[in-house]
Amino acid sequence: MNTPENQSTFNITHIYHSGVMIETEEKLLIFDYFHENGAFDEKEFLKLLRHHGHKDFYYFATHGHPDHFTQKILTQDFQSSQGMTRYVFSDDLKTYHQAHSNITLCRSYQDFVIDGLRVKTFGSTDQGVSYLIEIPPENKLIFHSGDLNWWHWKNFSEEEKLQEKKDFLAEINKLKNHLIAKNSTLDIGFVPIDPRLEEFYALAGNAFLKEITPKIMFPLHFRKNYSITKEYKSQCNFPEIFQSIAHPLEHFILQY
Ligand SMILES: [Zn+2]
Repeated sequence: MNTPENQSTFNITHIYHSGVMIETEEKLLIFDYFHENGAFDEKEFLKLLRHHGHKDFYYFATHGHPDHFTQKILTQDFQSSQGMTRYVFSDDLKTYHQAHSNITLCRSYQDFVIDGLRVKTFGSTDQGVSYLIEIPPENKLIFHSGDLNWWHWKNFSEEEKLQEKKDFLAEINKLKNHLIAKNSTLDIGFVPIDPRLEEFYALAGNAFLKEITPKIMFPLHFRKNYSITKEYKSQCNFPEIFQSIAHPLEHFILQY
């Protein structure tokens, strides 16, 4: 199906927590797949994968924390039935590299291309990397933060809180400078909105909206607390940019 030249569609599925699936005509990109008890019916997700079984699958893992990575994605159920399946992992997941030939390991601040997907890694304020990816054919730019967050924990000392702020803003600034140098706008940003930070849950989102101003921003890292995404939409400065989410496996068709 052809879309008019001035309008393209982008299909995004929020899976759960930081798990995201992005569809193009030929490819399926899946970030930080994570399932836990009672989260969603995993069979429904596998059905989605089968529906896209003629495409090539690309799994990205930002790091190895159990809420961002599971070995399950290396099993046949999660692989493309007719296409190829490839993996891009941060190098804290290097133990899997020996057993599987289709894994690319990466560290922060690397550039590489996999089957036309232009990948640039940035840092994290926890473990692993964050991913900036240019997706053909329209070269849409998406950024998945992983655990790159403004970790303002209430029990941290003032010094620790200041360090967290500095580290987060420094990383965001690197992304911002890169986009300015390329004269590009980010199409979609995926950013943590973590309810465990209590009244400070919005710091990363607010900074991201202000500094990066993507065309659309999706929340990550809120487990089953879908209401916080609604709350954030009602109080943030750019509600037209922010996409709240109602349930696991929610599908979005973006048109612009
Ligand atoms: Zn995490």
